[in-house]
Amino acid sequence: MEQKKVRVRFAPSPTGGLHLGGVRTVLFNYLFAKQQGGEFVLRIEDTDQTRFVEGAEEYIQECLRWCGLEPDEDPVKGGPYGPYRQSERKPMYRQYAEQLVNAGYAYYAFDSPEELEAMREVEKAKGNHAPQYNQTIRATMRNSLTLSAAETAELLEKGAPHVVRINMPVNEEVSFTDMIRGTVTFNTSTVDDKVLLKADGMPTYHLAVVVDDYLMKITHAFRGEEWLPSAPIHVLLWKYLGWEKDMPQWAHLPLILKPDGNGKLSKRDGDRLGFPVYAMNWKDPKTGDLTKGFREMGFLPEAFINMLVMLGWNDGSGEEIFSLDELIKRFSIDRVHKGGAKFDFDKAKWFNQQYIQKTDNARLAALLQPVLQEKGITATEDFVMKVTGLVKERCQFVNEIWDHGFFFFQKPTTIDVDSVKPKWTPEKQQFFEEWAAGFAQLPDFNAVALEESFKQLATAKGIKPGELQMPFRIMLCGGKFGPQVFVIAEALGKEETIARIQHALPLFA
Ligand code: GLU
Repeated sequence: MEQKKVRVRFAPSPTGGLHLGGVRTVLFNYLFAKQQGGEFVLRIEDTDQTRFVEGAEEYIQECLRWCGLEPDEDPVKGGPYGPYRQSERKPMYRQYAEQLVNAGYAYYAFDSPEELEAMREVEKAKGNHAPQYNQTIRATMRNSLTLSAAETAELLEKGAPHVVRINMPVNEEVSFTDMIRGTVTFNTSTVDDKVLLKADGMPTYHLAVVVDDYLMKITHAFRGEEWLPSAPIHVLLWKYLGWEKDMPQWAHLPLILKPDGNGKLSKRDGDRLGFPVYAMNWKDPKTGDLTKGFREMGFLPEAFINMLVMLGWNDGSGEEIFSLDELIKRFSIDRVHKGGAKFDFDKAKWFNQQYIQKTDNARLAALLQPVLQEKGITATEDFVMKVTGLVKERCQFVNEIWDHGFFFFQKPTTIDVDSVKPKWTPEKQQFFEEWAAGFAQLPDFNAVALEESFKQLATAKGIKPGELQMPFRIMLCGGKFGPQVFVIAEALGKEETIARIQHALPLFA
């Protein structure tokens, strides 16, 4: 049999920020597609207009761009199976809903919101706490199964509001093979008669996902484990529509769990524990609430991706650092775990630190530029690169380059006088005055020459160089931090080094 071209899709609903679990779904889709020489599709599932959020689609696209996981086909660039927004595909779905009704796999339901509410009340009174429109209840409602054919035809003719519901079979076993979980079996009696087509003619997620996966020739469907309960509905629809042989292979990905392993990681856990859960900052257009993202927190996209792939997968070698290209080669679905993966923010930081070390200074400098601009600081590219090179080993986040290197760009605003004053002596004061006065004689103002002259003069004056280095550092940086102190002086240059010494000396006396 001819091998079908692999086609996968990420099918988010544009309802808000993109959770890291969503990005991991994108990643697994992407890796699988690229490895198989296939195509990766982004489809926007916006059939539930009540949940639509302005800007959410653009945000998702921007996240994928930032992560370097760009789709081959999407609503903006289009493709052979468009449109890629379900709302724009609205006219395509009704015919399939009708096909299902005609074959007896679905039915029209005319119940008004009041009738549905009344049914729920009656059921609750009988002790049924979660009443559902299901195999038992449907017999008591106003639908094409209980009404005569003539009554139904008349209602349709009159344009009476109605939905189309799936006619869930009674007590049937539905099985399918999941690439991660193996055989999964459900009994249809546990599933209610889901709405497939709404009164306004818009499909629900269940109908749209099946029709679109079919029309878009999707071969493998990766999605979060939370969709597993919907799988029997989808499997039945594939069968009822006569498309069973084209059904994609399913892979329900394990959940990403809270750090303590107790349940799914939520945005609230991030707020509570102080780490991001969304890929990028998300500002809710209605409330104006801002939720922090990995990007703005100072993660490099490669580190973010690498951290994510390890949540639920490894290649068995014990290695942890992989570039996207390596991942494309090494990824395999049969090494994805069934169980949930605990999120560990310390580990995420570790990945980021590893990547910051590996990243060249020019790229880090470019990331620092907006911070400098915001502060009104101008510096040459060479200088910014030099600074990033000096401080990057201390940084876990890109944003920390500023925190660890601010004193290269501006005079420290505070000087830790208390750490110096108690051991300060007139001799030390004299040492610095003399040493700075000698800078003019140095053949070159570099770290090696500075350190040498520093040690020589200290020895000549009988002061341990170690006792002078900490004060010198505090003069230049304001505190006991930063890279090697003579390297800092070299980067600052002669004038600035002298200015900082002269500024600090009177404070220590
Ligand atoms: N629209 C669903 C979501 O928001 C897609 C689930 C699926 O991939 O089938 O996640």
